[in-house]
Amino acid sequence: MSIRLRFAPSPTGFLHIGNARTALMNALLARREGGAFVLRLDDTDTARSEERFATAIVEDLEWLGIPPDEVARQSERFERYSAAIARLTEAGLLYACYETAEDLDRKRKRRLARRLPPIYDRAGLMLDEAERARLEDEGRRPHWRFLLPNFDSDPAEIRSTPITWTDLCRGEQTVDLGSLSDPVLVREDGSFLYTLPSVIDDIELGITHVLRGDDHVTNTGAQIPIFQALGAAPPAFGHHNLLVRADGEALSKRSGALSLRSLRDEGYEPQSVASLAVLTGTSQAIEAVSDLDALAARLDLSGISRSPASFDPADLDALNAQILRGFDYAAVADRLEVLGVGGGEAFWVAIRDNISRLSDAADWWRVVTGPVEADLSDEDRAFAAEAARHLPEEPWDDTTFKAWTKAVQAATGRKGKSLFQPLRIALTGRPDGPEMRSLMPLFGRRSTLDRLSGPGDRPR
Ligand code: GLU
Repeated sequence: MSIRLRFAPSPTGFLHIGNARTALMNALLARREGGAFVLRLDDTDTARSEERFATAIVEDLEWLGIPPDEVARQSERFERYSAAIARLTEAGLLYACYETAEDLDRKRKRRLARRLPPIYDRAGLMLDEAERARLEDEGRRPHWRFLLPNFDSDPAEIRSTPITWTDLCRGEQTVDLGSLSDPVLVREDGSFLYTLPSVIDDIELGITHVLRGDDHVTNTGAQIPIFQALGAAPPAFGHHNLLVRADGEALSKRSGALSLRSLRDEGYEPQSVASLAVLTGTSQAIEAVSDLDALAARLDLSGISRSPASFDPADLDALNAQILRGFDYAAVADRLEVLGVGGGEAFWVAIRDNISRLSDAADWWRVVTGPVEADLSDEDRAFAAEAARHLPEEPWDDTTFKAWTKAVQAATGRKGKSLFQPLRIALTGRPDGPEMRSLMPLFGRRSTLDRLSGPGDRPR
């Protein structure tokens, strides 16, 4: 049987790099094993879910290179959830509760004062018909809880009930159902909380592996008995550590910080974002991996650390530079054209080691097309004018710079930095950048002469 994985964001904001970590882990595992990758939009919260975010999520996954094989929406599946609710109620596993948030808070505090675990006391389960009718007559609407299997015969006698699974990331993992409150599955207004729809979807969409953040470990403990109550074998679970910024700033779908959109707009390549998102906090070295199959091959779920995956957003620059360095001209030709960059392959090969965003290519193209402004002392300006007299005739190639500077050295006695630095500044306007031997043929003799003669006395 081929595996099926899903990524299940709620469309309440733009995906950020931490969401990308979860999406990629699922998509890459599916890709590596020849399985399917499903996007499930968790849009049961109709007030906060927005169509523009749903659209953006699909676009962002495409940008990352992991378009989903299928898309499912929870908002289109409410009937399925109602059917499962009916089954659970029928089986006596779903019961009505009438406490308000304040009631629950009071109960929690009372239990804590008595040094008892602050879990729900199942008062709703103990109500008889008449009591329920009275509460409903008072205008109270129930919310509904799932009865966890953490007792022998008397639900009031809760006992320690370890639920254990072999987590794909964390190894043997245990949650004690005896320390959990019966989860609320349906709110007073009839809307569904995340817990049950997720289980029903995982069953009905045939999900075999659930990879999600380790903030869901306790949920898994509560969801496994729901799978069982619905007569389904739970999928395999893996809980990865969460990406956290080294500077402590939170990643939030709502704030848009480090959203995939903003990273794309800032000119980062999807491969560098994917490499950072997947490799941080694992046993693998963090380096730019330009190919998703290669990244999938490195995915080692059991090598994921249990502590938070701390990263510095500035690391993206180095990864991005690495990715760009690895691109051949064909990979970027169209995008360079959009940026108004000419010069063909020779230009790309000359500058690709010296950029950290593709848009930097446009800056270097302006350097190549000139004119450039060079800040040189009078002495260096005179030296540049002298150097101009030794420029070889064309055609030029990547040996020209060496031959020329040798001749200049012989004529002026300058060497090392005092020879090369003023020439670089005169020709490019900058103290560093691509190899001069690659740039010179791009400038050509005429333009090189202009640059060496500096402002003021440019030949007309
Ligand atoms: N919508 C849930 C979330 O984003 C999905 C969790 C899950 O993968 O089950 O946290």
